[in-house]
Amino acid sequence: MGIGSRPASCTACGKRLGRKHWYYRNGLYFCQVRCWETHREKLAEEKAAKDSAAQAAAAKPSAPAEAKSEAGAAGTAQAPASAEAKPAAPAQ
Ligand SMILES: [Zn+2]
Repeated sequence: MGIGSRPASCTACGKRLGRKHWYYRNGLYFCQVRCWETHREKLAEEKAAKDSAAQAAAAKPSAPAEAKSEAGAAGTAQAPASAEAKPAAPAQ
């Protein structure tokens, strides 16, 4: 009773769990503490990758719009500036 609910193998490495030597963490079973740490690190890495991917996806739509408006502003600002700079160049 109860003990039959645990899986037969380690969540991290897939090694068969012994009758006595196994560890239970956050609803998962591992053959050794090291496997739990490995699995936890893997989850953290996956979460970080997911977060950065979500951030990149969230940043993508605003980036081209920003670049476009910036380029438009720079284009209108540059035109008079370069026209003014042209007469100054020969005087150098
Ligand atoms: Zn293991």
